[in-house]
Amino acid sequence: MLPKAQQNTKIVATVGPACSAYEELLALAEEGVDVFRLNFSHGTHEEHKAVIEHIVRINAEFNFHVGILADLQGPKIRIGTIAEKEVMLENGMEIVFTNQKCPGTADRVHISYENFPKEVKKGERVLLDDGKLVLEVVSTDRQIEVRLKVIHGGVLSSRKGVNLPDTSLSIPSITEKDHADLDFILTQPVNWIALSFVRRAEDIIELQELIEKAGHTAKTIAKIEKPEAVRNIRKIVMHANAIMIARGDLAVEVAMEKLPTIQKEIIKLCIERSRPVIVATQLMDSMIKNPSPTRAEITDVANAVLDGTDAVMLSAETSVGLHPVRVVEAMNKIIEEAEKHFAENIQFSIPSPKSRTYWSDTVCYHAARMAQEVDAKAIVCLTTSGFTAFKLSSYRPIRTKVFVFSDQNSILNTLNLVWGVQAFFYDKFTSTDETIADVVQILLEAGKVTPGDVIINTGSMPMHKKYRTNMLKLTLVD
Ligand code: PGA
Ligand code: MN
Repeated sequence: MLPKAQQNTKIVATVGPACSAYEELLALAEEGVDVFRLNFSHGTHEEHKAVIEHIVRINAEFNFHVGILADLQGPKIRIGTIAEKEVMLENGMEIVFTNQKCPGTADRVHISYENFPKEVKKGERVLLDDGKLVLEVVSTDRQIEVRLKVIHGGVLSSRKGVNLPDTSLSIPSITEKDHADLDFILTQPVNWIALSFVRRAEDIIELQELIEKAGHTAKTIAKIEKPEAVRNIRKIVMHANAIMIARGDLAVEVAMEKLPTIQKEIIKLCIERSRPVIVATQLMDSMIKNPSPTRAEITDVANAVLDGTDAVMLSAETSVGLHPVRVVEAMNKIIEEAEKHFAENIQFSIPSPKSRTYWSDTVCYHAARMAQEVDAKAIVCLTTSGFTAFKLSSYRPIRTKVFVFSDQNSILNTLNLVWGVQAFFYDKFTSTDETIADVVQILLEAGKVTPGDVIINTGSMPMHKKYRTNMLKLTLVD
């Protein structure tokens, strides 16, 4: 069996009560988690801080480059508390949703969005609890109350999420809670910040401005879980540093049968545009309780790998599940097998001479092609911004690793999310010849290459000018 770290498709695991202690996080990192996700819909800043400290310590002690992803709740709408814990909503009955706080009953429930009565229209759907309950707007007083008819009833309990797929909402994309969370997050060594319920590219630009203003280097992830985001996907992919296909809410907001093709199309677009992409939610859902996945889950994970996704994500499976380590182990096995059959025909765009970065794009593109032709063990690149690594990886050089060297640990940890990338610290940038000899030595010592292997180096010459990648070299390891 290949060592776990050699798999190309990465694993993101959500941290929660089931895995937030140092030993539990270490066990997951050893099992092959590449990025930990902190979900700011839950937990206190103190709890998140303790987890971040553990991950930083694990990376330092074991020379890992596990990345940290902070996930902002965004404009999530919820109902208030239900007085008797839960109520039964029967098909055909009517119920009032009000923006005034009140103990919830079968007649009247509080909704956390002030402008709800102003913005919904008659006939629009209101989905509750991940779409399990479906209501329809009958009338609104446009100020306080909305009367709804129950289409698909069921049990409703406190603080359940509300999805409004038909309504165009004026709710800000970065809420007060997100701002408070960002004040904390931007003091922490996180690598990625995800925003939930992104609707337009401007939402991500706003987040990027806040990150930059704080002098932080975290990169952004747009969570695609609204029909509006699917419509605006090209522009969002252009601006966001990475994309998450947040299938949980997405499947509630769009017709569920559209999910598989939306997933495939977004992955394809992200690969073409060199944006890392994560497939999220319910990949191994049954393992929250069970010791092994269902056939459908095994196939789902394998299909995401075969689509060429950069990463697959675990949510409740690791955060509150009974078998966090076992889930990662099982997921790794599925990934490993699927990658043996990874299609050679993953589509990527051939570099355009019109692009501002054409020269470096074309060097990366040919590095990936040459790697296949000469059966290279690895493509080795040096990066300060991560750009070369994103590019190289996006050409999906199957059978070849992408070894990335950088003098910035934060960049190395960031790149751990990216398909095929393995990160190494290196901070002696004297001359190209010396650097190539050094990195070969490091790879030999790490057991990543053996004498006789061919590797491909990309770099920038002359080194001190720090140009974009402009060099491609074949090196025989001896
Ligand atoms: P969530 O996002 O877990 O924060 O809701 C993922 C999803 O909706 O799939
Ligand atoms: Mn979501």
